Amino acid sequence: MAASGRPEVRAFVGLGANLGDAAQTLRSALDSLGRVAGVRLYRSSSLYRTSPVGASGPDFVNAVAEVVTTLTAPALLSALQAIESAAGRERPYRNAPRTLDLDLLLYGSARIDSAHLTVPHPRMHERAFVLVPLAEIAPERVPGDALARVQAQAVERLDPT
Ligand code: AMP
Repeated sequence: MAASGRPEVRAFVGLGANLGDAAQTLRSALDSLGRVAGVRLYRSSSLYRTSPVGASGPDFVNAVAEVVTTLTAPALLSALQAIESAAGRERPYRNAPRTLDLDLLLYGSARIDSAHLTVPHPRMHERAFVLVPLAEIAPERVPGDALARVQAQAVERLDPT
């Protein structure tokens, strides 16, 4: 239990960018995430270069971060969206190249299905760019056969964040 009186929850956030200096965008997004009141950055994966899946434009840089938070899941999603907006994300059309994309992958063991939030993230198990960095920092959160099913998707490990 935290000082706020709300329980601490371990949550996982997926980060991706494919415009401009994507690696730098991810590093500053991680920094911003750790500064959100009620959020502590616990650990983050290496950065990975990945080919676009269902999106256009240059390769993506992706990572996964584990946070400890006293925020509710909707409040954490709002904080992620505020960080996206601050990074100048525009959505001219569906799956357009994006300055920064933040997804709430897991929130403790919660299952959430509301109009604005689905957790676990509904497409995370189809995406090597989520599963590979998640397996680096929390292999226990990746089902045994999940990595094998996405092994055809190219993922290249870059520097540690
Ligand atoms: P996207 O454009 O792919 O980043 O999708 C953002 C939209 O997905 C927002 O309207 C969110 O409310 C919704 N959404 C639903 N579940 C999630 C989730 N687990 N993480 C991030 N966005 C989510």
